[in-house]
Amino acid sequence: MSWGVANLPYGVFSRQGQAPRVGVRYGDRVLDLAAALHDEVFAAPTLNPFMARGRAAWHDTRALIQEKLTGDLSVTGAHLIPLDQVTMHLPIEVGDYVDFYCSLDHASNLGRMFRPDAEPLLPNWRHLPVGYHGRSGTIVVSGTPVKRPRGQLKAGVFGPCAKLDIEAELGFVVGVPSELGSPAGAFEDHVFGVTLVNDWSARDIQAWEYVPLGPFLGKSFATSISPWITPLEALPRIPGRAQDPEPLDYLRRRDDWGLDITVEVSINDEVVSRPPYSGMYWTPDQMLAHMTVNGASLRVGDLFASGTISGPRREERGSLIELTWNGNDPIKLASGETRTFLEDGDTVTIRATAGDVTLGEVSGTIV
Ligand code: CA
Repeated sequence: MSWGVANLPYGVFSRQGQAPRVGVRYGDRVLDLAAALHDEVFAAPTLNPFMARGRAAWHDTRALIQEKLTGDLSVTGAHLIPLDQVTMHLPIEVGDYVDFYCSLDHASNLGRMFRPDAEPLLPNWRHLPVGYHGRSGTIVVSGTPVKRPRGQLKAGVFGPCAKLDIEAELGFVVGVPSELGSPAGAFEDHVFGVTLVNDWSARDIQAWEYVPLGPFLGKSFATSISPWITPLEALPRIPGRAQDPEPLDYLRRRDDWGLDITVEVSINDEVVSRPPYSGMYWTPDQMLAHMTVNGASLRVGDLFASGTISGPRREERGSLIELTWNGNDPIKLASGETRTFLEDGDTVTIRATAGDVTLGEVSGTIV
């Protein structure tokens, strides 16, 4: 089953009147880890203290949970709580937040729209994973309503965003810090797991403000993540996509960190896109190497996201600006309605599967 012992994502839950604590999802229930494993690290309201224990502890804990769930449930079963009796919370205390731009198709599509007379890709794109630092303080858990932002839309014009968009992304959660910049260990010594990300984007605010320093208020009003962090161990890995030119040595891949994940984007419960993560150009090990190569440290709870996941076909694009080609080619919904960008009341849900493993969905409604 997709929420069986091969999956076991971690989250933070609370029962009515009780403090938030850490659990893992098993079927339609959550296992109260502090109670089941007699370990106070799971009585914390975030995953950070557990993540800080490191890779060996992550592995041993997962093995122990699997053993308990496949053994005699007469004891462990008492600590399995139906999901409809709990509230899910932001699972990590987010440290720094970085957003990359790793999809060749997404970067090419945006280049064609914004710079129609030039090469779609800027000269640096194939040489490094382009990224920027986002706002960690406005990362919210799935289900949190997203208020339509206001801002400068062009010279002398202020008002509510008229081009509110999504970006379907995969986020990577850092569990083990690095004070020296370039992490000493392997990728999986530092990165705990993955979560689905919706990088809400105000395209009109973004288009006016982004030159020359990059995304700012068009992105910082909200970024939603799933309440569930899927451990790296649960994910099927594949070779990364071929790269041309060969990247510099610090970006050289030492392991297969391509991920075979199929993503699904829905508006008001209707699927509008199925972006394939497997086609991403830059892999997460390369993102981690790049964001620390200058000496920048890592902290527990740092989050870095892949950038919009888009494939080569229209039905594989992970943002509305691409799906509607900057609003010129509306999406037709089954209800008969059309969409270019999001309207108030729209609910966007991003789901994903990695082989037999389902990732926790991320959803948000525009208010
Ligand atoms: Ca983004």
